[in-house]
Amino acid sequence: MSKSHYQAPRGTRDILPSEAGTWRWVLNSFADLAKRFGYGQVISPMFEDAGVFLRLGENTEVVSKEMFTFQDKDPKTPQDLALRPELTASICRAFAQHRPITPWKVWYEGPQFRYEKPQAGRFRQFVQVGAEIIGENDPAADVEIISLAWRFYETIGLKHISLLLNSLGNVETRELYNQELLSYLSKNAKGLSVESRDTLAKNPLRVLDSKRKEDLQIITGAPTIQEFLTDDDKEHFESVCDGLKLLGIPFTVSPRLVRGLDYYTRTTFEFIADKLETAQNAVGGGGRYDGLVEELGGPPTQGIGFALGVDRILLACEAEKLELKNELPLDAFVVDLTGGSHASQITDELRANGLGADRCFGSRSIKAQMKVADRSGALYAIIVGDDELEKNEVTLRDLRGDGSQEHVPRSDLVKALTASIKERYPQ
Ligand code: AMP
Repeated sequence: MSKSHYQAPRGTRDILPSEAGTWRWVLNSFADLAKRFGYGQVISPMFEDAGVFLRLGENTEVVSKEMFTFQDKDPKTPQDLALRPELTASICRAFAQHRPITPWKVWYEGPQFRYEKPQAGRFRQFVQVGAEIIGENDPAADVEIISLAWRFYETIGLKHISLLLNSLGNVETRELYNQELLSYLSKNAKGLSVESRDTLAKNPLRVLDSKRKEDLQIITGAPTIQEFLTDDDKEHFESVCDGLKLLGIPFTVSPRLVRGLDYYTRTTFEFIADKLETAQNAVGGGGRYDGLVEELGGPPTQGIGFALGVDRILLACEAEKLELKNELPLDAFVVDLTGGSHASQITDELRANGLGADRCFGSRSIKAQMKVADRSGALYAIIVGDDELEKNEVTLRDLRGDGSQEHVPRSDLVKALTASIKERYPQ
């Protein structure tokens, strides 16, 4: 086959049906869990006024380099628009716009767009799931948010995830710390990598994110923000730590965890997949953003949330060799040797009864149809030939187990198939 002239754009990819069932299962697992935690879904636009994202901090890379921006075509409303690089800002914009009752507990899923240099686990379009609690200052909210993410990793079966936790204090604390850090790093600038020297000029905090060898020693000696926390901030952080311990969620306090975006205050956290390479091992993160809603035109409102990268989570599952579930495995494949109308009727009946069913089109030999049935991943083949028609029954063949088969009265098919699946393939 010759290759198509067009390819998916750099940094994007097609998720084909062979993988998409697993994606759906992961996304549905998150949706179910968030619902159980009492969160409602928000579906917001994929693009926003670019100003919404400028609030993330003009010096953050997401804003300065990575935004996909474009202009509204209407000359009367020349507006800079941007594909969303993340969702917290959109959710806060929605909160400021609609003013729902607080605490507003919401979740989301969907693609985000960042003009990054594509590499393993780093895409220009990637999918996040996330949750936010807006309008709540109680440290118990921080604990609940973190536990939602943690229980999600558990639900899909990941075992090697580490939770790193820190507090960035309030805006003033951060400012003080920033100055102290700037002066320390400037004194040691000669020893820093060229990239970190560049970062230092723009955003000293981000130097702490560097994983480059030459930077590590200097970073290790840097002052930590913990030394600058106010008593209130310390108390809040201790309550969060106690709450996590109470729920049995393990964490490591990581005083140099700063996170990428400018809006974080107090609690910040990151989830690391221990089985992935350092460059792509962040599978989620979040924190408090007590000033963001106000910056977007709303009343002073606290908030906390997280975003988890689904592309990376799936990489972590692969690295842990997890067998992931498929959202809706095919229960039966109907092999009709009598012309096709029975295949139409039987698949219709099975689907109406909540079972997954498929069939071949066109008239094909039994061999050809069995081959397709096998490839489909179906648990059973339901075979209808002249013999079966005469006796008003069908043949039910187990395709995944021992290959055994039985004859079932046509009128009992749904019952027999359901019972057989329950017995041989319990969930
Ligand atoms: P952030 O919004 O930068 O805190 O990212 C939250 C999570 O989204 C990260 O921990 C990653 O799992 C994921 N993520 C961020 N950027 C990318 C990207 N370019 N490609 C794939 N996943 C990403």
